[in-house]
Amino acid sequence: MTTDTHNPFEDVALAMDAAHAAARELILTFPDRPVGRGVSPGAMEAAFDDALPIEGVSASVAIDEWLARAEPGIVSTAGPRFFGWVFGGVTPGAIAGDWLISALDQQGSLWTANPASVQTEHAAVRWLKEMFEIPTDWVGTTTSGATMSNMVGLSAGRQWVGQQLGFDPALDGLAGNPVIPVVTSTEIHTSAIKALGHLGLGKRAIRKVAAPGGAIDLAAFERELDSIDGPVLVVANAAEVNSGAFDDLNGMIDIARAHPDGAWVHVDGAFGLFARLSQRTRHFVDGIERADSIGSDAHKWLNVPYDSGFAFVRDREALFGSFSNPAPYLAGAPVGLDFDNYIPEMSRRARGVAIWMSIKQMGLRGYQEMVDRCLDNAWKFASWIESEPGFELIAPAPLNIVCWRYVPDGLDDDATDQFNRDAVKAIQADGRVFVSGTVYNGHAAIRCAFDNWTTTAEDIEILQSAVRDIGEQLRSG
Ligand SMILES: *Cc1c(COP(=O)(O)O)cnc(C)c1O
Repeated sequence: MTTDTHNPFEDVALAMDAAHAAARELILTFPDRPVGRGVSPGAMEAAFDDALPIEGVSASVAIDEWLARAEPGIVSTAGPRFFGWVFGGVTPGAIAGDWLISALDQQGSLWTANPASVQTEHAAVRWLKEMFEIPTDWVGTTTSGATMSNMVGLSAGRQWVGQQLGFDPALDGLAGNPVIPVVTSTEIHTSAIKALGHLGLGKRAIRKVAAPGGAIDLAAFERELDSIDGPVLVVANAAEVNSGAFDDLNGMIDIARAHPDGAWVHVDGAFGLFARLSQRTRHFVDGIERADSIGSDAHKWLNVPYDSGFAFVRDREALFGSFSNPAPYLAGAPVGLDFDNYIPEMSRRARGVAIWMSIKQMGLRGYQEMVDRCLDNAWKFASWIESEPGFELIAPAPLNIVCWRYVPDGLDDDATDQFNRDAVKAIQADGRVFVSGTVYNGHAAIRCAFDNWTTTAEDIEILQSAVRDIGEQLRSG
């Protein structure tokens, strides 16, 4: 018998307090501290070249040691003036849910082990379906992000198409069986390509139809389907990541439904699904409820911490056929409750709790207002770009992405491209705001995404002055 009465969870509580204090200090200064510092890979590598610690320390010392090394490389991606890629921040409800499940180490697959967490995810998925007007009889699951959401939807689609072709992809494998054709547009997101590669459908085998302006050419799509004898897997984009352009979902689904041997239509709605939450943009996703599967992200526009996404699938059998995970040692809960039958993983974080708590805290109304505010911010910035000399809006901004570039007088195409690449780095190092670069229609360009719940109209003014100042600095050499 031990006489030590020390409760080890006191140490956990101290670690939580110390982590809380450190995080609190950082996030409360988000509005004022530089968003990023333009830190170099060499500097970060040097900061983290310590040898393996042999003796341990308290968690609060570990936190201090980490912050001392990490500080210059902590970008305020959750703050109001981070406009890079499509990131989003963290709502109060979301961080509460996320911290709670970490402290309690809740997994989100096996109902019998963590009934509250797993049931919370079923409830969160039901709320998400209602928010986005997805039929209630679809199956849904959280994922680690839209790449995995695409993987979930496309895997169910592969299963369905395979069965139409007379084999079971999960049981039989693909070798020696008929090819599963995949049709999409040239604007398919790299994550869906990655998922298709992983599913054995062949990144190079994907048939990509032209998409002038970012939206699939419907006539060309119809011709492509007509050229295929047999069932097809289709990937629609809602929305395209550089410009926010949407495929005509009803148009695509009409054509797919008319295909003689059927088609499974998966929609990548990583952030575009959120168009559904504003009266001004909801028409872009009209018809999405007629698709077969939808992938989306929670760590983007839902403003839930990394990593978090969600997927909806119409056909429960196709999804189960792909991922069901029977094992005697797992049996216990009634069929359909355990999430390991819906996803590639077995154990995983109980992500549904952060989503549940964020929706509880924000309400549907809170999310609708946030999306509208983000749209106001994006469109304000887009019209400013359009009206300013020396700038070009290089694609329309139908949603929350603004794709633009500097067009300084007297520079040829190559020099203009270089100017824009330099400008992205200079803006990131300046620290007032953070933007990221891309290539659009062959031109180096700059993207700004507006999907953080804390961004205000004043932040847009700071964005405008930062991009104007950096442009002037670069021009004057
Ligand atoms: C971000 C994004 C993805 C990938 O999402 P992750 O969360 O990074 O896995 C897929 N599709 C689109 C359109 C995206 O914007």
